[in-house]
Amino acid sequence: MNSVNPVFVPAPNIDTIVSLAKRRGFVFPSSEVYGGLGSAWDYGPLGVELCNNVKQSWWRWLVYERDDIEGIDSSIILNRLVWQYSGHEATFHDPLVDCRECKSRMRADKLEGYFPEGAHQADFDANARLRAGLVKCSECGSTNLTDERHFNMMFRTMLGAAADENDPAALAYLRPETAQGIFINFLNVQTTMRRKIPFGIAQVGKSFRNEITPGNFILRTREFEQMEMEYFVKPDAEHLQLVDEWVELYVEWFKELGIDAANLKLHEVPKDELAHYSKRTVDIMYRYFPERAEEERQWEELMGIAYRTDFDLRSHSSKPVDAEGNRVNPDSTEDLSYFDEATKQRFYPHVIEPAAGVNRTVLAVLMDAYSERTNDKGETRVILKLSPQLAPIKAAILPLAKNKPEIVGMAKAIKRSLQPVLRAVYDDTGGIGKLYARQDEIGTPMCVTVDHQSLEDEAVTVRDRDTWEQERVKVSDLAEHLQKRLKPYPNPLLEPV
Ligand SMILES: [Zn+2]
Repeated sequence: MNSVNPVFVPAPNIDTIVSLAKRRGFVFPSSEVYGGLGSAWDYGPLGVELCNNVKQSWWRWLVYERDDIEGIDSSIILNRLVWQYSGHEATFHDPLVDCRECKSRMRADKLEGYFPEGAHQADFDANARLRAGLVKCSECGSTNLTDERHFNMMFRTMLGAAADENDPAALAYLRPETAQGIFINFLNVQTTMRRKIPFGIAQVGKSFRNEITPGNFILRTREFEQMEMEYFVKPDAEHLQLVDEWVELYVEWFKELGIDAANLKLHEVPKDELAHYSKRTVDIMYRYFPERAEEERQWEELMGIAYRTDFDLRSHSSKPVDAEGNRVNPDSTEDLSYFDEATKQRFYPHVIEPAAGVNRTVLAVLMDAYSERTNDKGETRVILKLSPQLAPIKAAILPLAKNKPEIVGMAKAIKRSLQPVLRAVYDDTGGIGKLYARQDEIGTPMCVTVDHQSLEDEAVTVRDRDTWEQERVKVSDLAEHLQKRLKPYPNPLLEPV
C-alpha cells in the first residue's frame, strides 16, 4: 500500500472535469439525443447531490449559523414593473459588434481599444472609436467592425396561454437575478420576522440570462443557479469596509469547501465596469484555466460582492420624488423604507450583496478536488478529494464476495442501518479493487467492506479515500465512527448541537 506522502496531480484543465463529470454521472450535455443545446447541461445522480450539498452548506452557514439572516424563495417570474424600476429593462445588455472580416460576433467592451485610457464609461463615444478603427477584433485582429448594438439579455415570455406574442401587457421576463425578489419582499420579511437593521435575506434559485456567447462547461450558461444574499445596513454604515468583511467571510467559506487559497484571488472591479447599481464591487476569482501560460488569463469570476447602495429599495418605493416633486415610481404601492426606533429616523437601508453561483462553485470545487495518484502497481487513479460535507455519497458498503448470501445480507443490512444517519450506497458490481477505484473517483470519503471474518467478529474494514489506509471497526460502533470522520456535518438533519 502506497500511503506515505502520495503525490497528487491537480486538474490540468476544465476538459478533464467535463470528461470525469460525464463518465461518472455528475454532469451530462443537455438534450444530447437531439444534438445538444448550446451550452446547456444536465446534472446527473451525483451532480444533483453535489449541487444540493453546496446549497445546503451555504444555507446552513448563513441562515442557520448566523443570527442575522433570514431565507426566502420568491417567484422566477415577477411583475414586469420590477425589471423596469430595477433598471434591467433599460440597461441590462451587452454592447455587441460584428467583425466584417471574419464574421465573428463579440462583446465590444471586452475588446482591445474599446475604452480610451483612463476614461469613464459615460465619457466617450464607442461608435466613433469603432469607426475610427481604434478597436480590434479579438479573433482576427481586424479593426473593420460594425457599430455596437444592444440586445437585452433578459429572457422574454408571455403571461397567459392565450396572450398575443406582441401584447406588451402580457410581456414578462424570467428573472436575471434572484436579488429583486429579495428587495420587493424587504418589508414583508422585516416586519413579519421583527428584524432590526443590520440583517440579511438569503435566497437560492435559478436565474436566466440570454448570453450571446455562453461556454466553458458550467461556468457560463444561460440558465444558472444563484446563491444571493442582501445585507441591509444603515445609510451611514462603513459600506466599503463591509464589502471587505464579506469578501473575507466568503474566502473562508470557499476554503472550508476544500478550495485551495492559492487558486483564489481578489479583483477590484474598475469604476467604468461597475453595474448600474453598484458603487463598489470586488470579485473573488478562481483559477479555472490553469493551463494558460499567461497568469493573468487563468482567472474567471467565481462570485462578486457588491455595494448596491439604497438604489433598489428606493427605486421600488412609492414615496421618493424628483426635483419637480413628481413621484419617481408612480406604480409602487409601498414605501420600502425603515424606521429606526433608536434614532427615530426613517431611511432606505443600504445593501451589501454577496452573489455567488452554485454552478461556478461546483466547477471550482471539482477542479480543486481532482487529483491523480499512482498506486504501487504503477496504475494511475483519479481521486476526487471532495470535502466530506460535499461528497455525494458519504460511505459505500461493499461485500468482498457477492456470491455469499450471508456477506451480501450483512452488507445490505449495514447500508440500511446507516441510511438515516448519512448517505450510503451498496455496490457489488465488480471486484473490490474496481469498487474502491470507482468510489475514489466520485469522492466517497469512506468505503466499508464486509468480508468472511465479519460474519464471525461482527466487524468491518473501513478504508479511507485519501490515504487508502484501512481500519477494523465493530459494526455496533460504525455509524458513530463514520460520523466522527466525516465532520463537519455529514448529514444536515443531524447537526451537532
Ligand atoms: Zn475578425
